[in-house]
Amino acid sequence: MIKITKFGGSSLANAQQFQKVKHIIESDPARRFVVVSAVGRANKHDNKVTDLLYLCHAHMQYHVDCSNVFQMIRDRYVQIRNDLHLKFPIERELDALWNQIKTSISLDELVSRGEYLTARLMAEYLGYAFVDAKDVIRFRYDGAIDFDFCEKSLQRVARNNQPFVMPGFYGSAPDGRIRVMTRGGSDITGSILAKCLHADLYENWTDVSGFLMADPRIVRNPRPIRKITYGELRELSYMGASVLHEDAIFPIRETNIPINILNTNEPDNPGTIILNEVTDDTKEDAIITGIAGKKDFTAIAIYKNHMSDAVGTVRKALSVFERYRISIEHIPSGIDSFSIVVATKDIKDIIYDILNDIRKEIEPDQIKISDEIALISTVGRHMSAHPGISGRLFAAIGKNNINIRMIAQGSDEINIIVGVENKDFEKTISVIYNDFIQGEELQ
Ligand code: ASP
Repeated sequence: MIKITKFGGSSLANAQQFQKVKHIIESDPARRFVVVSAVGRANKHDNKVTDLLYLCHAHMQYHVDCSNVFQMIRDRYVQIRNDLHLKFPIERELDALWNQIKTSISLDELVSRGEYLTARLMAEYLGYAFVDAKDVIRFRYDGAIDFDFCEKSLQRVARNNQPFVMPGFYGSAPDGRIRVMTRGGSDITGSILAKCLHADLYENWTDVSGFLMADPRIVRNPRPIRKITYGELRELSYMGASVLHEDAIFPIRETNIPINILNTNEPDNPGTIILNEVTDDTKEDAIITGIAGKKDFTAIAIYKNHMSDAVGTVRKALSVFERYRISIEHIPSGIDSFSIVVATKDIKDIIYDILNDIRKEIEPDQIKISDEIALISTVGRHMSAHPGISGRLFAAIGKNNINIRMIAQGSDEINIIVGVENKDFEKTISVIYNDFIQGEELQ
């Protein structure tokens, strides 16, 4: 049994968190390959080391002294090393880094040091080998992961099942220089390891016990999601429910290696399992898996008589958005009209240019703009098999006097999206949750 265990920054924020990690690792012999993020935040007032490193770089760019910021980073690492009574000569590493900052260091190398130093300390603390991500995680010239290289080198370092700790978030470019992933990228490193080492499970340890069916700031004590498919998760994270880096799914998607989201502060909680396909659902499983949404969209409704007989009208309108490089969320359509729904922030400064171009391109009879639209996605792999779900959803919303401005459904029928006014956002989520989840619980 091989488990990849990845710990996020809050699981590594101080010596107490390191102790919890050690306890988790030692309680299961399958946990031999460990990926760590950089030392993170133990509470709201703390700083994440990665943020401080980016801050140092911003200072450097404007030739402003960053010694105070660097001192904060230094203090965090020295404190953890001392509290855990480790021997690692962290001052030497930090002095060398400080010299590089004063002479020359790339942004990628600088910000990767958070993970590097954390992994150094964790390796000594667990008594595991340290494997540098720059030697085993390789990017291609186009920025994609070079899986052939990674697989060969990771198999090599993992031979004989020798346990190791590896920093997440970075690897190297083909020329050997350090290159980082996007923020939160250690999740991706864990996923690359899971794929390349043919793991049975990828455990992603964070500070929440998996996903909840709805945002707890909106719904009181929402039920946890025990199992979710990659597809459902993608829908929910796109709509704003984020615990895992979105790209962490891609390396292991076809392998069907489950990802288990777990809580370092509550290790006995089973958390959420993410799978390509869930095959052991029972009748008792809820019809919907989760509800998420985002505010602040604009719908541009375009009316043109006899549009249904004309060819190319929608394409011409869409080409305007393409020209301005605006990504489109939805295109609900009627016979002689259609709406284009986009994020308000993307168009607010250029809306008049866009409207002028649309007028020129398709000479519409009328254009109407509606701002302040919120989109709410109700997601569930069981929805397509149950007739009447959308009816029930719309009825619940209607009964609560919420005006639905738009409806869309993904072609794989795992979600139904409704557009409502921003002001009705929270209420709509509660209404859907109460109808589908609370209602079932009460029966
Ligand atoms: N330390 C990096 C960040 O804060 C990567 C990670 O934590 O996954 O974005």
